Formats: sequence, C-alpha cells, structure tokens
Amino acid sequence: ESFKNSGLREVLLDKLIKCNYTTPTPIQKYSIPIINSGRDLMASAQTGSGKTAAFVLPIVNILISQPTNLNYDRDYCEPHCVIMSPTRELAIQIRDVVFKLTSGTCIKQSILYGGTATGHQRNQLNNGVHIIVATPGRLIDFVGRGIVSFKSLRFFVLDEADRMLDMGFKPDIERILNHETMVTVNNRQTLLFSATLANDIQMLAKSYLKPNYIFVA
Ligand code: AMP
Repeated sequence: ESFKNSGLREVLLDKLIKCNYTTPTPIQKYSIPIINSGRDLMASAQTGSGKTAAFVLPIVNILISQPTNLNYDRDYCEPHCVIMSPTRELAIQIRDVVFKLTSGTCIKQSILYGGTATGHQRNQLNNGVHIIVATPGRLIDFVGRGIVSFKSLRFFVLDEADRMLDMGFKPDIERILNHETMVTVNNRQTLLFSATLANDIQMLAKSYLKPNYIFVA
C-alpha cells in the first residue's frame, strides 16, 4: 500500500517521499479520497494516528489544483481554509505539518494564537494567506475587528473537537460558524476530527456538516 493511488498530485507525492511517509495510515487511507471527492467528514482519530496529514494533504491537493486569487496588501484576510485547534501547542504542530507539505508551492499559511502581541500575526495576514491555523480566542478577536473574513472559505476543519468542547469553546466555535461573513454549509467542506464521539460531538456534526457527511471510525 502506498500513496500512489490516493489521488494526490505529483508535487505532494514527492513531498511524502522526502518526509519518509511511505505508507498511508488507516485514517489517511480512508479520509483522503473522501475529502478529495468534496464530501464533508466526521472522523474518529487519536493523536498519533496521522490525522493531521489526513486532512492537510487533500486540502493542499485541492488548493493547488484550483488556484484562486488571494487579496494581497489589504488590511483584511480572506483565507480559503481555517483549521481550528483547542491549544497553542496543537496549533503549532498542525502548522508545522502544513508548512512541510506546502513549502515550495504557491500555498501560504499563517498561525493565530493568543497570549502574544497581534502585530506580527496581522502583518502576515495582510500579505495574503490561504490557510490559517488558529485557536478560538485570537481568531474571534481578528474576525471581530474585520481583519479576517470567511467570505472565500472553502475548508473549515475542527481538530480535536472533543477537547474543544471540554475546554468550553463551544460558544466560540458557534460564533465563528455563524459569523455574518461565513459561507453556507453547502459552499464549504467541513471536516471534524475527534478522539471521542459523544452526543455533543454528533450534535455539532448535525448542525454544521452537510447532511450527507461521511463518518470514518
Ligand atoms: P498526528 O497523529 O497527525 O499527530 O501524526 C503523528 C505522527 O505521525 C507525526 O509525527 C507525523 O509526522 C507522522 N506521520 C503522519 N503520517 C505518516 C505516514 N503516512 N507515515 C509515517 N509517519 C507519518
């Protein structure tokens, strides 16, 4: 088993070889074709399962296949993909995977988290980014100030959704997904990853994923 028939473009297959990813993990094997086909996904996945690359690979694959114009030199940012993480540490790990898999392509990424000054993060956004990895507080801050808008969003990823809810981020997630600039559920792909699948996670999927979303366990 290899990534050869996964539908990923050559440039990504080359990167996988360089990263020494020779064999897809189970979550990658099941999730990549589903995301590539445009469907929404709820996946049960533990840390260490390779879940990050399971969503980053097909998202980057689609973004480099269908490049669209970014707005540069603006005082606002309209990303194509937002990846939400409950903690700064996880956000940094996700950003590192995104960085590895987008280096040398046209895809630009940026990370947003709280507890630091906003200036540097703002400057990066103003140069135009496709992918934002963010913790909830700082993203809401930037959205509230009109620095980030969801008008051009094509992917919304909720990583470690159970931890998000445990940490009390449900109102923040809802504020983002119900924001006035947010595209409709039919105009984006929504991907939800969670270690556990309690009732509240399934409710989240029901509210914010397309009714025909696919469930991978
Ligand atoms: P994650 O579950 O996303 O935190 O990934 C766990 C670890 O597995 C990370 O260190 C990844 O770099 C690594 N990894 C992800 N996918 C693969 C793969 N297909 N082959 C080898 N290592 C991988």
